[in-house]
Amino acid sequence: MNENTTSRWLAICEHMHKAQNSSPAAARQVQLVAVSKAQPAEAIEALLVCGQRVFGENKVQEAAKKWPALRACYPDIELHLIGSLQSNKAREALELFDVIETIDRLSLVDAIAKARNEGRETRCKKFLVQVNIGEEPQKGGVMPAKLDTLLAYCKQKELTISGLMCVPPADDNPAPYFAMLNTLAQKHNLPELSMGMSGDFETAIRLGATSVRVGTALFGERVKK
Ligand SMILES: *Cc1c(COP(=O)(O)O)cnc(C)c1O
Repeated sequence: MNENTTSRWLAICEHMHKAQNSSPAAARQVQLVAVSKAQPAEAIEALLVCGQRVFGENKVQEAAKKWPALRACYPDIELHLIGSLQSNKAREALELFDVIETIDRLSLVDAIAKARNEGRETRCKKFLVQVNIGEEPQKGGVMPAKLDTLLAYCKQKELTISGLMCVPPADDNPAPYFAMLNTLAQKHNLPELSMGMSGDFETAIRLGATSVRVGTALFGERVKK
């Protein structure tokens, strides 16, 4: 299994590189976020041995169980929260994650501002806003029409937003959604674009992604609990 992980990691790095070189719109540097949700520590360690340091998890509780031990061995790990965040877990998330990619509502901005104002040093240094780019009712993310208001509120609360993140509708061609997210980011002068997963990371890179979130294509199918 570890050998598989290593060869999959190498293949993905190569595909990323090719996509980058094939498009003038590609970012100069693209970060690979290895999505390790539902993966055991052994699978993660196989990637750490390769030199991979940036990982994504979608649940605060799961991350709290898995990552402190791994961080003790690899202090330069960068952990991203890519799943929706409940306001009552904001403080815990600020201590666990280096990057929170899923700011999507005013009440969450309030909860984060409150936790940060309590004065304790927190780990998290970077924040992205998740946009519900396909305007799907069941999905997380701020509706595109409400993005201006949310960004203005972040500014008012002194929460610096570095970029936008999205998960396009599952059964559609993702390219128009990636292009739309890029346009929104440019409009607001936001340098970072987190878009693209196992099935479409090359498309996302060609359309300007600065980070891609890849799970299945790296680790194989997730074990369902
Ligand atoms: C699970 C997940 C991914 C990774 O998906 P794969 O298809 O396994 O690559 C990326 N982004 C988010 C937000 C996810 O929840």
